[in-house]
Amino acid sequence: MDMNTIEAVVRTTDPADWREGDAWLAGGTVLFSYGSTAFGPEPLRRLLDLGSAGWQPVAVTAAGIELAATCTVAELYALPEKLAEEASGTADWAVNAQDWPGLDLIRPCCDSFVASFKVWNMSTVGGNLCTSLPAGPMISLCAGLDGMATVLGPAGSRRELPVADFITGDGQNALAPGELLRSVSLPASALSSRVAFRRLSLSNLGRSGVLLIGRLDGGGRFMLTVTAATKRPVQLRFASLPDAPELADELAAAIPAGLYHDDIHGLPAWRRDMTHRLAEEIRTELGMPAGAPAAVSGDFWPPQPTQTQPTRQTKRGA
Ligand SMILES: Cc1cc2nc3c(=O)[nH]c(=O)nc-3n(C[C@H](O)[C@H](O)[C@H](O)COP(=O)(O)OP(=O)(O)OC[C@H]3O[C@@H](n4cnc5c(N)ncnc54)[C@H](O)[C@@H]3O)c2cc1C
Repeated sequence: MDMNTIEAVVRTTDPADWREGDAWLAGGTVLFSYGSTAFGPEPLRRLLDLGSAGWQPVAVTAAGIELAATCTVAELYALPEKLAEEASGTADWAVNAQDWPGLDLIRPCCDSFVASFKVWNMSTVGGNLCTSLPAGPMISLCAGLDGMATVLGPAGSRRELPVADFITGDGQNALAPGELLRSVSLPASALSSRVAFRRLSLSNLGRSGVLLIGRLDGGGRFMLTVTAATKRPVQLRFASLPDAPELADELAAAIPAGLYHDDIHGLPAWRRDMTHRLAEEIRTELGMPAGAPAAVSGDFWPPQPTQTQPTRQTKRGA
């Protein structure tokens, strides 16, 4: 899409350069899809291009993984393989991939984009978080691994907040005008947990309608992150693996009806039912010994709309 209100493209990563009418430009897959009039009451006048930031896309240390906001989906997708090479001694990484089962979440989350070649290679982790769609798969990944977002402000400020709190609603986030998302840190404590992943979409290559991530850490603590089904991430934490009724009760208490997302990719009632079903699958999977074959939701993949999804007409008529 032409952005014919744009008067200048400025290469900068300095929030002090930001002024009203500016937007940070990362991969541009949203900006050039929606156009310059979709981002506020006034059309955009300048793009602040992060393309020359030169930030290292991925930094791995024993403390965890730091993803630059400009890390592309393609670069992130390559990470587990690069880390696995460490085991064979062919790569220069600080950790052994086998110590971090949480890495297993990276590829299914990237695959949840169901993206074209261009989106896959251009779109960025930061752009996905800042777009803040409920179905943002980088939001699922980073929230599910207790990611911390680092945000830079125009007055030289720097603050950190959990990714789960960074996203505040459908298309809404905690960024103030001019603030720049610099990076997301994924802590080793989360990466070293056992993980389970479940996702459903109404169509085979469709946007996520429900995406749940479960984690069980070395101390037996259980954490569940609900995304895509809800307008913002919802996290439940338990000191030990709950039983089925306790998990269902906590889910019901944490997600009021109005928090379930409602769009063409799934009705709230369907998202609620599938959230409960997938949460129970995750609980069961993580309750089994590591490596045991998991029951997956493939028995209803692709989902059967007539069985699980009331039609729009049914909903209107109800
Ligand atoms: C075919 C197609 C399929 C898609 N599928 C999905 C999908 O399944 N799920 C999904 O969530 N999205 C999807 N998208 C939307 C989009 O591609 C992704 O959200 C992508 O990750 C956005 O990243 P970007 O780098 O291209 O962002 P950009 O377009 O560069 O920016 C998006 C927004 O974020 C702001 N921004 C970017 N980086 C920063 C930063 N570091 N700090 C502050 N603000 C910043 C920009 O100013 C802009 O408002 C899809 C798009 C297309 C075209």
